[in-house]
Amino acid sequence: MAYTGRFAPSPTGPLHAGSLVAALASWLDARAHGGRWLVRIEDVDTLRTMPGAARIILRQLADCGLLPDAPPIWQSTRDAPYAAALERLLAQGWAYPCGCTRRELLAAADATGQPAARHGELVYTGTCRHGLRGKPARAARVLAAASIDAPDVPLVVDWIDRRLGPQRQDVSREVGDFVLRRADGLWAYQLAVVVDDARQGVTDVVRGADLADNTARQIHLQRLLGLPQPRYLHTPLVHGADGDKLSKQNRAGPVDTSRPVDALKAAGAMLAVEADEGSVAGWLARATAQWSARWAEAGPQHGPSIDPRA
Ligand code: GLU
Repeated sequence: MAYTGRFAPSPTGPLHAGSLVAALASWLDARAHGGRWLVRIEDVDTLRTMPGAARIILRQLADCGLLPDAPPIWQSTRDAPYAAALERLLAQGWAYPCGCTRRELLAAADATGQPAARHGELVYTGTCRHGLRGKPARAARVLAAASIDAPDVPLVVDWIDRRLGPQRQDVSREVGDFVLRRADGLWAYQLAVVVDDARQGVTDVVRGADLADNTARQIHLQRLLGLPQPRYLHTPLVHGADGDKLSKQNRAGPVDTSRPVDALKAAGAMLAVEADEGSVAGWLARATAQWSARWAEAGPQHGPSIDPRA
């Protein structure tokens, strides 16, 4: 299938140095494969969306010569396909309504002695799996189990990352049945990303390593919905001077794209791509050739000298 890649920023603020690395990597990988590159604005979490941020992100990308091959799509306009996917999972018995309040989730997790939070999310203990018991429905969750007939069989997902190599996650133990539609009515990232990657024909997901942990859940949803599984490559994270990963949560500042070649050089250095060209087009062409020699020809799992532990 023809290569289609994408960059999928959440418009919670302008691009920071770390998000430009992910954008550049996905662009380079698409160009190195002679493929298409798309941008998807992941504004499904309207509570975290910053007004105007998407426009700023698109301008920062354009400053750096990273232009999508089709107009960007906005997740906030795409209710219907997410609803259809959830309907299908509910109808097949793969998903169920959950009536647990935050307090009940905490109490149930506490009772099992599990560590309180995992990236701020609790491992769900399955309280509503067998019915709401009179509680009003709040969220919708998908079953993390091997089959509907055997919902207690652990779900272990194996997948291969082009940089990190073989990966495995026991979704039932490490995550539990996870949320597809939140109690506040918003679509969960996992569902939206899987539906949109399939609808946009994405063959290759290239994104930051902080998202690698979501991949098993996304593969599980792809299997339940009968969608193709893209290849995955997770790029190294950028750390600030304090050693923490850069993110909007720790207030990483916007990346300065007024000198785009400097911004590209800094992002490229994180990807072991170095080009000494003075123009954006020249820099990108050189970088694409390097990326191509390293990733496109070597193929999955034979990537290079960028540190796999980063
Ligand atoms: N929207 C997500 C973020 O900005 C990225 C989603 C993805 O690439 O799968 O963190």
